[in-house]
Amino acid sequence: MIYADNAATTRMSEAAIHTMVSLAQETWGNPSSLYTTGQRAKEVLEEARSAVAAAIGAEPREILFTSGGSEADNQAIRSAAELGKKKGKTHIISTAFEHHAVLHTLKKLESEGFTVTLLPVHENGLVVPEEVEAAITDETALVTVMFANNEIGTIQPIREIGAICRARGVLFHTDAVQAVGHLPIDVMLDNIDLLSASAHKFHGPKGVGFLYARKGIRLTNLIEGGAQERGRRAGTENVPGIGAMATALTEAAAGMSESAKRLSALRDRLIAGLSEIPHSALNGDATKRLPSNVNFCFEGIEGESLLLLLDDRGIAASSGSACTSGSLDPSHVLLAIGRVHDVAHGSLRLSIGDDITEADVEYIIKNVKEVVEYLRGFSPIWRDLVNGKKAFIL
Ligand SMILES: *Cc1c(COP(=O)(O)O)cnc(C)c1O
Repeated sequence: MIYADNAATTRMSEAAIHTMVSLAQETWGNPSSLYTTGQRAKEVLEEARSAVAAAIGAEPREILFTSGGSEADNQAIRSAAELGKKKGKTHIISTAFEHHAVLHTLKKLESEGFTVTLLPVHENGLVVPEEVEAAITDETALVTVMFANNEIGTIQPIREIGAICRARGVLFHTDAVQAVGHLPIDVMLDNIDLLSASAHKFHGPKGVGFLYARKGIRLTNLIEGGAQERGRRAGTENVPGIGAMATALTEAAAGMSESAKRLSALRDRLIAGLSEIPHSALNGDATKRLPSNVNFCFEGIEGESLLLLLDDRGIAASSGSACTSGSLDPSHVLLAIGRVHDVAHGSLRLSIGDDITEADVEYIIKNVKEVVEYLRGFSPIWRDLVNGKKAFIL
C-alpha cells in the first residue's frame, strides 16, 4: 500500500514504538509516587517536557501534556476566553477554515455570549495579516489562526499575525498540529502565546499531544481532579505516550530540513502530473504549502468514488479531512476558499511522508488520471458539462 494520508495520521516511528514499549515495560510507576519507581517515571515526564519545549523554542514549564490536538485547542481557546471575560473582552477572531476542534469550541463560546469573527481565507487559502489587524477591537480577547491547514496545507503568515496581536495586546493562539515536527517553529520569534500540537501527526502515538502556553498565561482546567501538570490537567500522566511523543518529535526535528526538501520536490511533481488532468485545479497556494500536501478538485466526479477506486489500486488517500469523511457535506475548507459545492465534492487530498518513493509518485499520477477518466465516463454531471448543458467551472 502507498500511504498518502499523513495529514489524517502518521505511522509511529520505530524509535517512538521502542520508547513506548520500553517505558510500558520498565517505567510503569505513577509519577506522583514518592518511591524510586514513581520518581523514575516523573524523570521521564520532565525529560520529555524539556525535549518538546526545545523543539519549539519554549521553556519546559510552558508545556502542558494533553490527550492530543483537540484537547489542546479546547483548553487554549477556553483559557483565553475566560481571561478576556475577566477584563470585559468577549470578542474572538479566527478563520473560516480552522479544524473543527477550534470551530466547534468557538460555536460553544458564542452560545455562552462571546462574539466570533471568522476571517475569510481567500482563494489561495491564506489569511491576510492586515485583515486580522482590521478586525481587532477593544473587546478582542483572542486571535486564533492555524499554522498550516490540514486539508489544503497552506501555511499562514503566523509571525506577522503574532506581531500584530502582540502590538495590540491580544492573545494569539495557533493550532499547529499540522506544522509541529514538519516546519520550523520558534514560539518567541513567531510571537505565539498559545500553541496546540498532537503526537500522531509527527510519527508519535495517538491520544497524546501538548499545549504550549507562554509563561504568565493562566490556563483554565478542562479536567478537574489531582494536581498533575501543575494543577492544570488532572489525571495520571500517559508516561509511555508522552515519552514516545518526545522521541518522535526529537527525531522529526533532526530530519526536518532534509525531509522538507525531498518531499517538496515530490509534491511539486505530483502537482505537475495531476494538473495535466483536464478541468482540474490545485486547491491552495502552490508554494506556501506543507511539503507533504497536494489537494485537487476534479470537476464532474465524486471524491468518495475516487478514493474507493484508488484504494483498490493500493493508494490510501483522502477527500478532505478524516473527521468529515462519512458526512456528505462538502469540506468547509474548500467552501471557504470559494469552491462551489459541485466542485468541492470532487476533491482529493494526498499527504505524503518520508517513506514515499519517486516510483510511488508516478504510480499515483498514472492511477489518479485513469480513475478520474473512468469515473467521468459514467458521470451524469460530466455528460452535462461535455454536452454544454452546464458550464465548466474549472
Ligand atoms: C489532527 C488535527 C487536530 C486534532 O488532533 P487530535 O490529536 O487528533 O485530537 C487538530 N487540528 C488539526 C489542524 C489537525 O490536523
